[in-house]
Amino acid sequence: MIIVLKPGHEDDDLHRIVRRLEDLGFRAHISKGEHRTIVGAIGDERILREVPLESMPGVESVLPILKPYKLVSREFKPDDTIIRVNGQEIGGHKIQVFAGPCAVESREVLEEIAEALLPSGVHFLRGGAFKPRTSPYAFQGWGEKGLKFLDAVRERTGMLVVTELMDPRDTVLVCRYADIIQIGTRNMQNFRLLTEVGNIEKPVILKRGMSATIKEFLMSAEYILAQGNERVILCERGIRTFETETRNTLDISAVPLLKLLTHLPVIVDPSHAVGRADLVPAVAKAAVAAGADGLLIEVHVRPEEAFSDGPQSMRPQAFARMIEECRRVAEAVGRTL
Ligand code: PEP
Ligand code: MN
Repeated sequence: MIIVLKPGHEDDDLHRIVRRLEDLGFRAHISKGEHRTIVGAIGDERILREVPLESMPGVESVLPILKPYKLVSREFKPDDTIIRVNGQEIGGHKIQVFAGPCAVESREVLEEIAEALLPSGVHFLRGGAFKPRTSPYAFQGWGEKGLKFLDAVRERTGMLVVTELMDPRDTVLVCRYADIIQIGTRNMQNFRLLTEVGNIEKPVILKRGMSATIKEFLMSAEYILAQGNERVILCERGIRTFETETRNTLDISAVPLLKLLTHLPVIVDPSHAVGRADLVPAVAKAAVAAGADGLLIEVHVRPEEAFSDGPQSMRPQAFARMIEECRRVAEAVGRTL
């Protein structure tokens, strides 16, 4: 249930409503927007049907939430969520770029890649130290050693580090090094892991499961917010379809749809969506045009030597060209990049 307060309501009205809800066993979630204050009541809605909240001072209307997700919904929080991390904003006017190799390989290669990204104005260096690989025989990532390489390159370049967490047992370790935690496609419905990152202080990039519906995707984000971490960034990275020419099929309509349904920032990962570097620029531009708040791009100085996802990794020169093109599209849709 959401309780919409009248414009110019008294602080006391708000306190009274919150107290009433808590007395009834609900958790009250307050969202103070530019024009309206909204109180979301989290709990068994059936109880509220008998309670005349409409007649409380300051209340304009009481509306049921028909969707199964609440905290992530626009109804609960009409204004966009802007996530601030070390001086950068995600979900604001500027479209952010998260780029780097699929896997952290060596400190030298990581440094080379980071240096190549800097002229394009990239603030977020993304690379995996824990890799979820289809084959148990494939490179699984360097673990803490990889995190230390990321840390060293952050020190040197000032870039912020985005890296994947796969196992709740590694949360403390990964949080020690990461500025933003990535939850990968294969773990989108690892509810134990979602609960875990719901309790941390870092922003989380949640990637859409490869066969997940939009509703399932939002329910997974709800798990994180329900624990108290409201800094979630949704990432569309392509879904499984009958098509095999591309690695996945980018669901471009997910971008405007998610922006309608939720206040959370939405970014797009064209690299994993298409699986081939030559298609990434066109799809990245489409994502910017569709309203994405960010792009997640795999870049490698020598894709032919990459430990993982070489075929979809862009060379720095092509990446720089693509960013310039994306910048023009961003301007056309009233954003900056
Ligand atoms: C990755 O980001 O390198 C990755 C493994 O992506 P996804 O979880 O989308 O497959
Ligand atoms: Mn990858």
